[in-house]
Amino acid sequence: MADAKLSIRCSSLPILSTCFGMLGADLTVGIASEVAQTGTDVHAYAAQLIREGKAPDIATMDADFSFLASRVRMAWEALKEQFPHPIVEKHLAQSLPKFDISGHPDLYGIEDVVATVLDFKSGYKTDADVLPQLLGYCYLVGAEHKEVERFEIIVCWLRDKDIQEWTFTRAEVREWIGALHRRAASWNGRDFTAGDHCQYCPRFHDCPARAQLARSAVLDILGLDLTTATRGQLAERLPDLYSRVQMVEKQIDLFRKWLREDLEKNGRMICGPGKVLELKDQNVQVLDVQKGWKIFAGCLDEAALNDCLSISKTKLLAAVGAKSAPRMKGKDQAAVMKALEEVGAISLRPKKVLTWTKGESDAE
Ligand code: SF4
Repeated sequence: MADAKLSIRCSSLPILSTCFGMLGADLTVGIASEVAQTGTDVHAYAAQLIREGKAPDIATMDADFSFLASRVRMAWEALKEQFPHPIVEKHLAQSLPKFDISGHPDLYGIEDVVATVLDFKSGYKTDADVLPQLLGYCYLVGAEHKEVERFEIIVCWLRDKDIQEWTFTRAEVREWIGALHRRAASWNGRDFTAGDHCQYCPRFHDCPARAQLARSAVLDILGLDLTTATRGQLAERLPDLYSRVQMVEKQIDLFRKWLREDLEKNGRMICGPGKVLELKDQNVQVLDVQKGWKIFAGCLDEAALNDCLSISKTKLLAAVGAKSAPRMKGKDQAAVMKALEEVGAISLRPKKVLTWTKGESDAE
């Protein structure tokens, strides 16, 4: 590892707490470089709204920005009682023996011995673990306000109208930063932890470890002779190989997504003589359940009709959530699920999923 002291921003902690590799290139990742311009504008809008207590004029026709700004106003209306003395985007920094850490929490407030720390997210909710970023803010807020004994964390997902909340004691936050510090101190500059989180890492495209892992996965698969390899030979290699295969799959998915988005936005792509790639419209027949109901019911009995129909749990919960008042989404969705459970409308359907377990020999 380079001798220079590491500089860590809280916005990089979700990835950093899983893989210290992003520090290998002395990268310092900041909010401005990570988030699209709309996200930056929305954060500025929120900061002005909270500081001045009234909605700023919107000087843009951008529909996405206007939508997010309306969500900011809605969220602030529901949350402002919790912040009688809001502190907005204050730069906080601390120096530890092995690294410096800094960040600008979107908003925090101190009441007695409780600090409430809030972060607005303008992107879609992802599987990325946002908690380390917020714990970083809590550590910085606690270092600035020694009286704080408890931290209430709120993450406000503006697009999904969803809120995540956690509570931590000062001791728990100190324990967390201590563990991070120990890991940073012992990182050897060569060990990388590649995985799903790589797609959000600023080193995704140039990370030597990720590229090496992806290349080796493809070569290993090409080198496998599945007609002669025994199950025992494959089993030995699978723990290492399978995780790399998943990473390559992800990369391919990202590539396909990029390609479709590009073609949708910019139209057909001329790749060479006689080679034009384009998205072509194809019509697929879609049944309108409401309009066709009488016909379905007339030609099928109830059991057969039930077999043909299915309602997506994800879409159902999303539709319920979309009608909910701010901060009521989770409760409304839970109430619907409970009501369905009570009438026996929820059952478990077995599904085979590839899963790693410890197995019997390890459990002994
Ligand atoms: S791309 Fe993945 S393995 Fe590489 S530094 Fe980032 S998180 Fe670590």
